[in-house]
Amino acid sequence: MPKYIFVTGGVVSSIGKGLTSASIGMLLESRGLRVRMQKLDPYINVDPGTMSPYQHGEVYVLDDGSETDLDLGHYERFTRGLLNRDSNYTTGQIYLSVIEKERRGQFLGKTVQVIPHITNEIKESIQKLDDGNTDIVITEIGGTVGDIESLPFLEAIRQFPQDVGRENCLFIHLTLVPYLKAAAELKTKPTQHSVGLLRQIGIQPDILICRCEQSISREEQEKIALFCNVPIEAVIEEKDKDFSIYEVPLSLRDKKLDEQIIKKFGLPAQPCRLEAWDKLMHSLRHPEHEISIAVVGKYAEHRDAYKSIYESIDHAGIHHRAQVRIGRIQSSDIEEEGPENLLAGYDGILVPGGFGERGVEGKVTAIRYARERGVPFFGICLGMQCAVIEYGRNVMGLDRAHSTEFDKDSPHPVICLLDEQRNVTNLGGTMRLGAQPAVLAANSLAHHAYQSEAISERHRHRYEFNNLYRQQFEAQGMKFSGTSPDGQLVEIVELPGHPWFLAVQFHPEFKSKPTKAQPLFAGFIEAAISRRNKKRSTT
Ligand code: GLN
Repeated sequence: MPKYIFVTGGVVSSIGKGLTSASIGMLLESRGLRVRMQKLDPYINVDPGTMSPYQHGEVYVLDDGSETDLDLGHYERFTRGLLNRDSNYTTGQIYLSVIEKERRGQFLGKTVQVIPHITNEIKESIQKLDDGNTDIVITEIGGTVGDIESLPFLEAIRQFPQDVGRENCLFIHLTLVPYLKAAAELKTKPTQHSVGLLRQIGIQPDILICRCEQSISREEQEKIALFCNVPIEAVIEEKDKDFSIYEVPLSLRDKKLDEQIIKKFGLPAQPCRLEAWDKLMHSLRHPEHEISIAVVGKYAEHRDAYKSIYESIDHAGIHHRAQVRIGRIQSSDIEEEGPENLLAGYDGILVPGGFGERGVEGKVTAIRYARERGVPFFGICLGMQCAVIEYGRNVMGLDRAHSTEFDKDSPHPVICLLDEQRNVTNLGGTMRLGAQPAVLAANSLAHHAYQSEAISERHRHRYEFNNLYRQQFEAQGMKFSGTSPDGQLVEIVELPGHPWFLAVQFHPEFKSKPTKAQPLFAGFIEAAISRRNKKRSTT
């Protein structure tokens, strides 16, 4: 039977539970333990797939096609354990399942209640991660202790030790220890209150991870330990990192978090091995190049809307020892201010995925600029569709070429609905989703980057390249360098003759890791570096 770690958060939201949970997973894996991670989200949407990026940031897609919380991106970037649809449950999903059981008569006429029916369903969802091959299950509870929404989840994890034994469970509470400038003091009261709330529910945390801007003194640690009823060594400081989020696991290792967890569970474990991570930090601290990349999107102002894309750019930068400055450009601003004003000076331009018409013309203009000026260009999903639209309109003279997503009456619908999507009316979980195979053409940028003929990447779209136009585009210079194995769906387009112009229908950003850059991102950043070097040598 695995051991179970529950991570809760207190005082404020956005305290970094996802990153901290992922770091814990990584530290335990680095000691040879098999870890699986899970996030329980207290909102009523069945999954975040239909939520606006303003509400929720990016939707992270797994191999099996589940649309999940962006914290799963942290998990996947930091750990190796399998993530699948059991790795993210929401209140909506839990209730949906209970209500379906009720409709089938499975509760034998009983009154269906939060306790025990909802809490049982939650506990079963946690236990689904016990696949017989896992040493530790880490379950992060979304939201903040004290929220009405998270109560059923907290009640379920309170009950959990009764089923599996208290010695097999560990409660970690992530809390904030703010610094009050006016008083020139760190304040421990919010933490005391937050732990107090947990204890009212019946949960005594074993370890407190204290987020802070200033170091916590021994005296303050003693105070927290005393009031919160934990041993002093279980009060762990997690100070803000101003250099990089990749420091988080290393600093938690230095505070002996993994050692404490292993000791508490009495697990046999190897010494902590983090050489790859130490190496990564070294290249991050000693860059040899400096470049800038423009990401032209609809939600440029939102930090989390293109989370995995920003991360993947960083990973490719680490791979090539380049410090990458990312410019987040609002695509609608390009429509108003023109590409020269906003894009000049960048060494590469990336257009990410998206839905809805706002900002599409700005993306098309940005791509034209990249194509005509020879700036390395990387298009992703809607970014690929816009590259096709741009080429159709400005190179091939196809009047009003467009996607039928935005112009149903376009005389040249170069992007159109996938056949399988024509009769879809239900919006949740019905796109072309998850890992799909593709084959690559010889002598293409894609083939060169992947060093392989067959790949698998994750998808999330309803529209595709319209095959009626394939010959025409090919005849006029666009190369279709990746397709589905049956040749029917265009997966990658390129422009031979351009220094680096590549766009993909899938989402390569979901498979990039800090220690292993995704091949296309690596190729894109390499092209941006060589553009910068050429520019430098000519000036
Ligand atoms: N809106 C486009 C489609 O549905 C692109 C989707 C995306 O970029 N993820 O096909």
